[in-house]
Amino acid sequence: PPDVEQLGRATWTFLHTTAAYYPDKPSPTQRANMLNLLHSLPILYPCSWCALHLGQEMKVHPPDVSNRVRLSRWLCERHNDVNVRLGKEVFDCAKTDERWKDGPPD
Ligand code: FAD
Repeated sequence: PPDVEQLGRATWTFLHTTAAYYPDKPSPTQRANMLNLLHSLPILYPCSWCALHLGQEMKVHPPDVSNRVRLSRWLCERHNDVNVRLGKEVFDCAKTDERWKDGPPD
């Protein structure tokens, strides 16, 4: 079976980075493809209990793909769902761009 921790770090890196560079004004095609990507995760993510939990959270909190800021915020909150469940520190979603796009301020 896959290493759930390593898989998780790699997947969060991909998802947060992709959200950080998602357009401010996405086209209908970009929105539809982002929705497809996110809705694929509960079906295909190769950690079955992770996939199950994510699917449950996505039913309560449907993805917001309307723009870059909203998508990044939604994803941060879903990651925090997992952080809380695992007893990890909750991440400050105001720092999402600093972590995944801009780097630390100088
Ligand atoms: P990670 O949680 O992997 O985070 C990587 C980096 O992201 C952090 O160092 C931090 O800089 C940044 N970060 C942290 N929180 C946020 C946030 N809210 N927003 C933006 N950036 C943030 N593991 C399980 O054991 N059980 C599960 O049920 C489970 N479900 C998962 C569901 C999904 C969809 C994914 C992608 C992963 C899941 N994992 C699960 C894996 C888990 O979330 C972690 O990836 C893994 O435990 C490694 O944790 P980490 O402490 O190295 O940092």
